This record gives sequence, structure tokens and C-alpha cells, in this order.
Amino acid sequence: MNNADVIAMDFQSETLAAQVDAAYAQLPISLAVNVVNALLLSIILWPAVDDIILTGWLVALLLLTGLRYLFLRGYRRDVHDGEHARYWQRRFTGSVCAVGVVWGAAGYFLFPVSSFPHQLFLVFVLGGMVAGAVPLLSVLRHAYVCFAVPVVVPVSLRMVSVGDTEHLLLGAMILVFGLAMLASSRQVLRLSTHSIELRLQLTSSIETGRALQQMLRLDELTGIANRRLFDEMLQKEWRRARRENTVLSVITADIDHFKNYNDYYGHQVGDQCLINVATAMQRTLHRPGDVVARVGGEEFAFLLPDTPIEGATAVAELARRSVLRLAIPHEAPGVGGCVTVSFGVASSDDAVLLYPGDLVRASDEALYRAKRGGRNRVAVAGERADPPGQR
Ligand code: GH3
Ligand code: MG
Ligand code: MG
Repeated sequence: MNNADVIAMDFQSETLAAQVDAAYAQLPISLAVNVVNALLLSIILWPAVDDIILTGWLVALLLLTGLRYLFLRGYRRDVHDGEHARYWQRRFTGSVCAVGVVWGAAGYFLFPVSSFPHQLFLVFVLGGMVAGAVPLLSVLRHAYVCFAVPVVVPVSLRMVSVGDTEHLLLGAMILVFGLAMLASSRQVLRLSTHSIELRLQLTSSIETGRALQQMLRLDELTGIANRRLFDEMLQKEWRRARRENTVLSVITADIDHFKNYNDYYGHQVGDQCLINVATAMQRTLHRPGDVVARVGGEEFAFLLPDTPIEGATAVAELARRSVLRLAIPHEAPGVGGCVTVSFGVASSDDAVLLYPGDLVRASDEALYRAKRGGRNRVAVAGERADPPGQR
């Protein structure tokens, strides 16, 4: 079986699961209609048919309705997947067949031979059951046929067996009505299947679209956010900070002497180093709104909503130490030791910053000072002296 077959099978079983769901969703209506009509029929036919047969029939129908109610409860409690859908479909169709047989038995055994008005009432109730079942049972293949055929055939035969013209015509009429309802049920099945399939396709394309949107915002190499996501979040958080009068901080980070690292160890090892550094920096963030993105080759940016400059500086320091703890050797000539990162921090409460871009520029300037100050350190926008770096 190839992938396309597997997807087609998945789709089929999802469609079936949705059909079974629709069938069980309508089951309470069926059960109520069954009980009410059975009681009405029993009351009306009471003077015209044998009490024992009528009572036996009513008890059989009520027991069967009780069983279907238990199926409904079982279905509602069950886990709904493709495999279970088939199981619940069998139960639904099987019990619907049994109900059809019981109503069909009414058409035969409760036939009031001596009273034409009672016969008409019986036909009226059975016809109503067959017509009313079209929207309730047609969502599941075979369910409607299994119900309608056993209901219609016995009463038609009974009519025909009386032998006079009126009964022959009435019997034929019931059969024609039954056939018309079968045709209408097929149409309802086709339409409901089509709408379920469309709904499933729509849901799946919305999910695919969401997954693609998500992928567009992730960095392919490291798996953390990319520049696109960072820029979107920066705009959003900047506006939120202005609205809620909170402080937004940005940290820009750049791996030190990374060109040397690549030249010395090769691009593949360089890529692995980027992944490790990105993961270590990501782990330093714990608040749900915090983001770290890879915004360039070996450049990263953090966005820390509702975080003053002191907090952001502490986060940068944590990130710097977490990369140091990785102890990735960097033994290229002129560097020595291990891979380090420099950081620049800026916050939105600085009065000279008017736009989100100003905030990033301010943290870039601080980063530049960290580089000039000797690398492997955190510099803060607006500060003159750079804090000493620690190795
Ligand atoms: P500094 O300490 O001043 O930041 O020095 P640097 O060498 O890190 O800075 P520079 O900007 O000159 O070098 C960046 C280097 O990062 C260039 C390139 O070799 C490397 N680089 C950029 N993108 C990637 C990437 O996707 N994979 C790898 N392996 N290396 C990259
Ligand atoms: Mg750089
Ligand atoms: Mg660099």
C-alpha cells in the first residue's frame, strides 16, 4: 500500500466516524418518536386487536428502545476513532433493523382485520415512521434500507392479502411510497456524505495552512523562531507595552569570532555549534511571552515583554553563562578557549526610543560596545562603562 492509499483510507475512516457521529446525534429523536408512536398506536388499536399480541408487541418495542438507549450511552462514553466507528456502525444498523422488524410485525400481526378506519390509522403511523426516518437514518449507509423495507413489506402484503380493490390499491400505494422514501434516503445519504467530506477537507487544509504558517516562522537550522517571527512579535509587543504602560526589553546576541570557528572547523561543525548555542539560549527563557530568534547567520535576538532593563540584563547574563557551560572548544589561532557570545541589552522605557526599530538599534549599539570591550560580555544601552567579561 502506498502513501496515497493510506491517506485515502484515513479519509474514509474519518468520514465514517463523522457519519456514525451524526447518526448517534439524532438517536435521541428516534427513540422519543418510537416510544410516543408505539404508545399512540397501542391506545388506538386497543379495542380492535388482541390484547396479548398488542401488549407483547409494545413490550418488545420498549425493550428494544431501551437497548438502543444503552447503545447511545455507550457510544457517548467511548473513544471515537476509525476502528470504533465501524463497531458502533454495526450496532446502530443492527438495532435499526430490529426496530424495523418490530414495526413491520405491527403491520402484520396488529392488522385490525375487521376495522377499516383502524387499518388506515395503522398505515398512517407506519408511513409516518418510514417518512420520518429519512433524515434520521439516511446519514449511515444501509441503515435506512434495513429499517424501511421490513416496515413497509408486511403491511403491504397484509393489505394485498385482503383481496378487494381498495386494499390492493392501498397495498400498492404503501409500496410506491416506500420506494419513493428509499430514493429520497439515497439522495440524503449522498448529500450528507458530500458535506462531511467537504468539512473534513476544509479542516485538514486549515490545519495544513496553520502548520505552514508555523514553519514560515521557524528557523530551519536551529528550530527556534526566525527573524519574521521576531519582527512580528516586536511590533505586537511594542504596541502592547505602550498600551499597558509596561517595559519591553530586547537583547541582541552575536557569537564571538564565529568566522574563525567556521574557517577552522568547517561549516558543518559551525552549523552544529549554532544549534547548540540556540538551544542553550532558548532554555534560559521561562516566561510564556519571551522569545529568542535567530535573526542572522550567528546573530540572535531576545524579546522580553514586561521586563525592565535589570531583568533583561540578568537574562542576558544567564544566556552568556549557559553558552559558556556548553564548553564548545574554539581553538582557532588567535582565539583559544571556547565559544562565547556577546550581548547588548535595551529597554523601551528609554525616552529617546520612538519606534520598535529604535529599540533594536539601541541593543545593537550596546552589542557593538560589548564586542569592542573584549567580547563574551553583556553591555547595556545608555551605560558608558562596559561591565568586565568573565571567562
Ligand atoms: P565577531 O566576534 O566580531 O562577531 O566575529 P565573527 O567572526 O563572529 O563575525 P562575522 O560577522 O565577521 O562572521 C560571521 C560568520 O558567521 C560568517 C560565517 O562564517 C558564519 N556564519 C554565518 N551564518 C552561518 C551559518 O548559517 N552556518 C555557519 N556554519 N556559519 C555561519
Ligand atoms: Mg555577526
Ligand atoms: Mg560574530
